[in-house]
Amino acid sequence: MGDKIRLKAYAKINLLLDVVGKYENNYHKVKMVMQTIDLYDKLIFSKTEQNINISCKHPGVPLGKKNLILQAADLLFSEFELEGGLDVKVKKNIPVAAGMAGGSTDAAATLVAINKLWGLGLSTSELESRAANLGADVPFCIAGGTQLATGTGTELEKIDVQPNLNLVVINPALEVSTAEIYSCFSLSEIEQHPNLDKLILALKNNDYKFILSNLANLLELVTMNRYPKIREVKDIVAENTDKALMSGSGPTILGFTNSRQEAKQTVSELKQKLNSNYKIMTANSIDSGIDLI
Ligand code: ATP
Repeated sequence: MGDKIRLKAYAKINLLLDVVGKYENNYHKVKMVMQTIDLYDKLIFSKTEQNINISCKHPGVPLGKKNLILQAADLLFSEFELEGGLDVKVKKNIPVAAGMAGGSTDAAATLVAINKLWGLGLSTSELESRAANLGADVPFCIAGGTQLATGTGTELEKIDVQPNLNLVVINPALEVSTAEIYSCFSLSEIEQHPNLDKLILALKNNDYKFILSNLANLLELVTMNRYPKIREVKDIVAENTDKALMSGSGPTILGFTNSRQEAKQTVSELKQKLNSNYKIMTANSIDSGIDLI
């Protein structure tokens, strides 16, 4: 393996996000169908003599203790009393604070990289249990694909499907804090919960229309009430695609299309309708977690 490793750390979307309760510590109890998409950050990890150093040109990414890469590295360095240091170069492509687990997937890649570079021999599930200390989405990002996430989001179960979803991803230039959205969420106001069994059946049957009619995100209303601009974007995406859905706690809006070609076509149409502050791109579902470049 040598002293250097290059990884792709993929973004996730939520095909279903349900909130079913609250724990005493105020964390929400969720049921989510998570899906990896082929939008990724590139990370280069190199072993060094000492210290952990991160470089990233994106202004929204903290370089100090708040960076999840540093937290992930600290976790394994202290547990295994690792010697030497680590240099991490990040090329950020995943929009920041966008509901696509950008920080979480970088943290997952860091656990994978250190496991390989220092030959720790940890299995996927051993990495996932450590990942849960870093954030609710980090365990999912390790193996990725299509998974059911329950508890606070860290209890995972692989769903045996490989959907071929063609998407348009629209990211308004707006950062939304997941914690803020959950703090405004009120379970007692929810009249109808998403139907998880139907979505899983639709995915298993690869039934496009049935999949679309069962996509759901209970956080959409909260985020859109706080940020009316996001509702406007969702309405525009809904007019131009087969289905519009917000990812995670937002603000990213996903548009589902029937083919890759249609997604490309929709990107050009949306670029004319929305101003240049929006990042608009195509994406596809993939069955992967962290990949070697
Ligand atoms: P999730 O969907 O997991 O809730 P998100 O996509 O909404 O995450 P992130 O992109 O992970 O949000 O960013 C949330 C905050 O995390 C950012 O505002 C930033 O300060 C911090 N952060 C820490 N490490 C990173 C990182 N490596 N990349 C991006 N943001 C990071």
